[in-house]
Amino acid sequence: MAIGKAIVFENRDKYKTPIKTTANANEEINNFTNALPVAIEKIEILKRNLAINLPKDELEIFESYSAMVNDPEVIEKTISLIDNYNCNADFAYYEISKEFIETLEQIDDPYLKQRAEDLKMISKMIIEILQGNKYNSQDLSSPSIVVAEKINTAQLAELNQEYLLGLITSKGGITDHTSIIVKALGIPYLLEVKEAHQKIKTNDLLVIDSKNNCVHHNLNKKDIGRFNGQINLDQKIMKKFMRDAQGEAFTKSGKTINVLANVGSLEDAVQALKFGADGIGLLRTELCFLKRSSFPSEKTHIDTYTKILDKLPEKTHTLRLLDFGSDKKVSYLPDLKEDNPALGNRALRLGFYYYKKLLKPQIRAFLKLSKLYKIKILCPMIANNQDLDQILNAIKLEQKELNHLGEEIKILPPIGIMVEIPNVAVNPENFISKADFFSFGTNDLAQFLMAADRTNEDVSRYLASADHSIIHLIKNFAKHAKKHKKEISICGELASNKKYLAQFLEMNLDGISMSPSLIPEIKAEIKLLD
Ligand code: PEP
Ligand code: MG
Repeated sequence: MAIGKAIVFENRDKYKTPIKTTANANEEINNFTNALPVAIEKIEILKRNLAINLPKDELEIFESYSAMVNDPEVIEKTISLIDNYNCNADFAYYEISKEFIETLEQIDDPYLKQRAEDLKMISKMIIEILQGNKYNSQDLSSPSIVVAEKINTAQLAELNQEYLLGLITSKGGITDHTSIIVKALGIPYLLEVKEAHQKIKTNDLLVIDSKNNCVHHNLNKKDIGRFNGQINLDQKIMKKFMRDAQGEAFTKSGKTINVLANVGSLEDAVQALKFGADGIGLLRTELCFLKRSSFPSEKTHIDTYTKILDKLPEKTHTLRLLDFGSDKKVSYLPDLKEDNPALGNRALRLGFYYYKKLLKPQIRAFLKLSKLYKIKILCPMIANNQDLDQILNAIKLEQKELNHLGEEIKILPPIGIMVEIPNVAVNPENFISKADFFSFGTNDLAQFLMAADRTNEDVSRYLASADHSIIHLIKNFAKHAKKHKKEISICGELASNKKYLAQFLEMNLDGISMSPSLIPEIKAEIKLLD
């Protein structure tokens, strides 16, 4: 919670880049290449501004901005556009970056949409440098709650952190870097408060209640006293949660469950460490490669996961094979234009279709990493025993081939399956002996049980009513798993629903995996249970 006066920021996202012809394309190319180090320097300054209050790891977000500025593909295409059309650098850079932004935006994935926002911010910064404008800054001169239509990380970093009490935006999403940074700074914030920047006026007294997802205004003295008391108490409790989250959480009677993190990037792994994750319960590897323009090589796989695993090198981590397709599309895979992509060629179905380019390098990377780290391999979208046999055989084949090459992979890491297709969820006995562990993917399971597309807001109301059936299925599956001494966990959204926590412990589940920032509260809740 935060209490304070509002300051409403105007939206300065609009800018113009009219095309102009030039007699000297080389000069425009020089202008463009000279603008890039200026942008890098600006990013460095922004990073330094935040460095006082932000842990070192969180600042890694700024490395990705520098990488965006230096993206060789964008640079090359911009230069050839200037060269071919004798046009101005700001126009060329705008056009090329727009192409990349639009590709990311077309994919129905909140994470990628956010990467598009990041690229927009970088694009705007470079264009302003090229046009000779001062990169816009709006600052705070007294403690305030900032209200804006949306705010990017550069604008956020320019604010005097000492005076930033809270943040409310009309647009923006939970996977957005702005939200990652404000969260890391410990600043209360609310995103997607419809028309907030129009309805709230500068100097309005506000309370941000992020726990209940609401803003209070028009406060009287009594309200102010009450909210201030609540804020002091909350701060004390959260500090305690964070301190206590490091280490296993036990119920009063000594039961425990691993509270794990769902991770899709290096930044998430940093969060996982900070919030006391007992390991990574689901590494959505496909999220690491959405932005590329070519298939990730074995080396890229290894390098990417190594950085992530090195954040928590002692723990055991579950790495999932690529789950591309459905709403996670990439430019290097053809868009199959299926009518029902969630039921079509996704995950391993796609993986086997492009085996040499997609699955093979990843399996090999996993096997090589298994010699260095405690990892488990998780197979998405298993529908029947043929699927399971096919992937088990492929992994064994790669092991054999690697051993021929002298790798000495003597023991395979545990291989488990996502329980996210009803045919698996209702028939544990058919799968229990073949896989080493099971992880309930309640997001997909809910959409398949309710025949309600999880990406379609019009039917999303159906998804919550799958809870009852899913709990029933997990309970039944857990009985079989325990009998066969197999591990069972949950990695869909249901895992962090406190309402079911006592039941998960009762079922003797091995783990629940969730967004890293939810871990401290869930661990605190476990400690309150009998
Ligand atoms: C799930 O389906 O519940 C799951 C965890 O996987 P994803 O959300 O990546 O499909
Ligand atoms: Mg799934």
